[in-house]
Amino acid sequence: MTKKQNLLKKKLKNKFYLSLFFVIILNIIIFPNFSCSENLSAEEYSRVEFVLGTVCQIRLLTALPKKKVDKVFDDCFAELVKLDAIFNANTEHSDYGIGELDRTEISELELVNQNAGKEPVPVSKELFELLKITIDIAEKTDGAFNPAIGALVKCWDIGFSGKSVPPKKEILSTLAISNFHDIELKETKSSSGKIEYTVFLKKTGMRLDLGGVAKGYAADKLSSIIRRFGIENALIDIGGNVFALGKNSKGQDWSIGLKNPNIGEQGIAGVLHVSGLSVVTSGNYERYFKEDGKIYHHILDCKTGYPVETRLNAVSVISDKSLYADLLSTTCFVLGEEKSRNLIVELRKKTGSEISVLFFYKDNSVRLISEDKLSLEVKSPFAF
Ligand code: AMP
Ligand code: MG
Repeated sequence: MTKKQNLLKKKLKNKFYLSLFFVIILNIIIFPNFSCSENLSAEEYSRVEFVLGTVCQIRLLTALPKKKVDKVFDDCFAELVKLDAIFNANTEHSDYGIGELDRTEISELELVNQNAGKEPVPVSKELFELLKITIDIAEKTDGAFNPAIGALVKCWDIGFSGKSVPPKKEILSTLAISNFHDIELKETKSSSGKIEYTVFLKKTGMRLDLGGVAKGYAADKLSSIIRRFGIENALIDIGGNVFALGKNSKGQDWSIGLKNPNIGEQGIAGVLHVSGLSVVTSGNYERYFKEDGKIYHHILDCKTGYPVETRLNAVSVISDKSLYADLLSTTCFVLGEEKSRNLIVELRKKTGSEISVLFFYKDNSVRLISEDKLSLEVKSPFAF
């Protein structure tokens, strides 16, 4: 085990109560299934760690020997630690991912941010790839999803120190350095034939933020690792960003509960029964503060610089690619139902991915855009 993984383990112990708290506020609920396994040779294994700024749980159903299962977990969590060191946007927040562990290190994304307006920074294929995908979505949605939103996110700092509305002047000046057209990506082949990637942010103070998509990207990476070991039945949960592979221990589809998105209310709004699908929710209830009776949540509108004003409370996306589930839950929350429709049709065609979207409105009405067969129960008072 590497030094970083050991530190993470230690940190997890310290974070035990915090983790419990997080598990309770996750936007999904996975119904445990403690009954006897249908497949008697398969056993269920689970590991939980605090990484990517959240609680990550992996459950595996397999007949592989324990030693091999430990290797699968080790590989999965090593991948998460690696991705955290690339995508972490909050390295100076004491309770965020690797930031607290080793103050001498900063993430790759942070390095790009610190060199904004100065010079291009060599980056990993992972950061380059995710930036390309998100810039493409930003172009298709006129910046509804904006990977260059980092300075605005920091200005509000919702969910961390931000507890009041920042001055309008500050919001507007931050917006001016949050334009995704100012991200310059370059891919060059060195003399040895190696491909090198660089990212340059053209404006001083500009910042990238991939918090709206990194967990989905990570869940896809984990599903590949798990499948590579020949494990077909598993559940990946990265802070509520869920990917259900195969079947549960009863041989049935996994049951994923969607949290009631009305602020202050408990319980669930619905249950999805899924196999081979990821379920991700973006909602105004996840991180917010209240000022003068008004809720200010963490999903921001780059047209105004303020949290998105919408009739929606939450959007859940169900897809065979967790990347799209995560990316689109945030994007569709910003776009709203009507503008999301064309984007979903286009992406389904372009990527061949299954994509279904559930919209939860403040009046408890629910709308679904789907071409795929979904097993979904919506609980009262929520209704189609
Ligand atoms: P999620 O919970 O996946 O919807 O992601 C929300 C996070 O994405 C926020 O905490 C910000 O870090 C970031 N974010 C907020 N608004 C946007 C936006 N319009 N485009 C891209 N990322 C955003
Ligand atoms: Mg998202």
